[in-house]
Amino acid sequence: MRDDANLATCMEELAFMRSFVRLCDDGYRQGWHERNGGNLTYRMATEDVAFARPFFNETPGEWKRMDVEAPSMAGEFFVSTSAGSYMRNISSETSRYAGIVEINDEGNAYRVVWGFEDGGRPTSELSSHVLNHAVRAAATDGACRVMYHAHPSSVIAMTMVVELNSRTITRLLWQAMTESIIAFPMGVGVVPWMVPGGADIAKATSKLMRTYDAVIWASHGLFATGADFDAAFGLMHAIEKAAGVYVRARCMNGGSDNFRNTITDEGLRAIAEEFNLPINEAFLEETLI
Ligand SMILES: [Zn+2]
Repeated sequence: MRDDANLATCMEELAFMRSFVRLCDDGYRQGWHERNGGNLTYRMATEDVAFARPFFNETPGEWKRMDVEAPSMAGEFFVSTSAGSYMRNISSETSRYAGIVEINDEGNAYRVVWGFEDGGRPTSELSSHVLNHAVRAAATDGACRVMYHAHPSSVIAMTMVVELNSRTITRLLWQAMTESIIAFPMGVGVVPWMVPGGADIAKATSKLMRTYDAVIWASHGLFATGADFDAAFGLMHAIEKAAGVYVRARCMNGGSDNFRNTITDEGLRAIAEEFNLPINEAFLEETLI
């Protein structure tokens, strides 16, 4: 058994829960979580569930229906931030502002097994998260476990001025910073503006998640996923950094996108070759021979 599990006297001391809380803190410090903005879920590994089980409530909560069906997520356990919670409060009152839910055998309902104290419930985006977890787990052979939603300013600002499609925005982000294409070689998906919280935006997002490990919601924010907390946070950070460079460069350029210097498609291809990246070829211009 791992040390953290041997020594833990409460859920909050387990390694996966400490990583969950740390990401919430890190995201808040980046300025990505005004008010109750953003949410986070983690699909627990079998050993996480084994270590956590001694701390589960004696009696689980009632089964509650979700807006979506995700049969491949049947029986999975997720850590989730609570609906309405402020990211900045998760570290100080974890059992109140976060919790663990179990998904039923049909993959269409959940019940609380720990946390969400004082009448809390999981994030209003739980349906989106569970559906997206199903898609990303399938796309990554089960590796993807973290689904992170935040409101980073530069990404949101960018969606107000550039054409809203995955290819356009991905190319601008790749061209803004050399390491962008290394951080997200398949690119970033883009969902046009939609009402958040319901099944429609969940389905639109999950469709894009078959290809992309990050999806932008226009005038709203960004979803970033990963095999672990570092990967999901790093992806969010890299996309927001590139968007920030683009926004600054455009401001410095009098609002114009006619930049003097940028990374060429030849350059992008050379990076992909050097780092052996599974790059999304459809997002590069065809080579002129
Ligand atoms: Zn949001």
